[in-house]
Amino acid sequence: MAKTLFDKVWDKHVVKQIPGGVNVLYIDLHLIHEVTSPQAFAELETRNLPIFRKEKMVATADHNVPTINQHLEIKEELSRFQVEKLGENCKKHDITYYGLGHEYQGIVHVIGPELGLTLPGKTIVCGDSHTSTHGAFGAIAFGIGTSQVAQVMASQCLIQTKPKTMRITVDGKLSKGVLSKDIILHIISTLGVASGTGYFIEYAGSAIQSLSMEGRMTICNMSIEMGARGGMIAPDETTFEYIKGKKFAPNGSDLDDIIKYWKTLTTDNDAVFDKEHHFDAADISPMLTYGTNPGMGVKIDGKIPLAASGENEKSHKKALDYMHLKGGDSLLGKTINHVFIGSCTNSRIEDLREVANYVKGKKKAENVSALIVPGSKQIEQIAKKEGLDTIFKEAGFSLREPGCSACLAMNEDKVPNGEYCVSTSNRNFEGRQGPGSRTILASPLVAAATAIAGKIIDVRNS
Ligand code: SF4
Repeated sequence: MAKTLFDKVWDKHVVKQIPGGVNVLYIDLHLIHEVTSPQAFAELETRNLPIFRKEKMVATADHNVPTINQHLEIKEELSRFQVEKLGENCKKHDITYYGLGHEYQGIVHVIGPELGLTLPGKTIVCGDSHTSTHGAFGAIAFGIGTSQVAQVMASQCLIQTKPKTMRITVDGKLSKGVLSKDIILHIISTLGVASGTGYFIEYAGSAIQSLSMEGRMTICNMSIEMGARGGMIAPDETTFEYIKGKKFAPNGSDLDDIIKYWKTLTTDNDAVFDKEHHFDAADISPMLTYGTNPGMGVKIDGKIPLAASGENEKSHKKALDYMHLKGGDSLLGKTINHVFIGSCTNSRIEDLREVANYVKGKKKAENVSALIVPGSKQIEQIAKKEGLDTIFKEAGFSLREPGCSACLAMNEDKVPNGEYCVSTSNRNFEGRQGPGSRTILASPLVAAATAIAGKIIDVRNS
């Protein structure tokens, strides 16, 4: 029977089928961080259960870490407690831990791929919704809750109902100034934030295939923002090239052998999806969000919708009130005081190079505070080696140390009450970047251009 990429990976990991459509799924890689693991470790302790396969686990500290002076003690008490607790738990259970100061520390969804832990055909989980990022390699990767973290720790398995499958095909050539972030914001604003509920998405088509692995990760990262369980892309030569030479990836003849298997991880021609959507890359422009969910997006030169109909009417009004914006207005020319370039969506070396390329020889506007936060220690090092740190410094940007930073208000980097921030992260919920903060999601290129101009401008004309 013809199978989708998702079916092939899923079926290979089913340990047991339980009547009623529930499967016991084997998990190849379990990533943990300081936010969702303490309760899981505590549960195991209470029930006197050991960790079943500690060698399948990797931990890092990301959400609560400061992005300056990481060599000093963390100032915020709760953050310090969370990070120290993770370190203690990993030591106690002998789990690989890349804590602050380690050369491999970084955002959990950035370090997995760059260390060669994320590989095609794997099942990967983490107590974090943006685990979908790893699907860019043709893995089934999804976020899990705290009790499921404990379940995987104790059994290396997870009880799951198989989701439905959806394919989103984007064909054609991307226009000038359009990055992968714009593709996914365009998709979500067209289909809606609930359009993926109950589905696992495969992204396909020539525009997707033309993306680098970094670009593919940005797309899969935001699958969760349309309610999907996860997103994935069939591995190809771009994937294999990226994996080659990564620290923990197979190498030599082992790599040659496994690539033969990875090449089978494609959707069969006559496989049927539960739902299909098609997009033309030529219709995609640089995007901005105007509201309080990632589906409230418009083309950079578009107008904020006047009103939404039906059940979205109330939320549309509430979002515009919160954002202090009016339907019918354009965001072009809007003064912005904060720019955040980072997060597991857009903090990879390609993102930093894109920004450096734009800001080289320019100066940021005086009214703007511009943060650049690399996704990992390795990215920070590459950026310095390539001289990007000097470019950022000369342009007036602040290059920080790795972490989730201003993606969410769980550490010292926050956007002040009532202020706007053009952010390359994935969520623009109320208060996400700090109480009262107003987030406008965009690509790294749009964010860089905003910082230089001090207001939102159309990157295609600059
Ligand atoms: S960068 Fe943001 S979305 Fe990504 S893992 Fe950290 S907090 Fe979550």
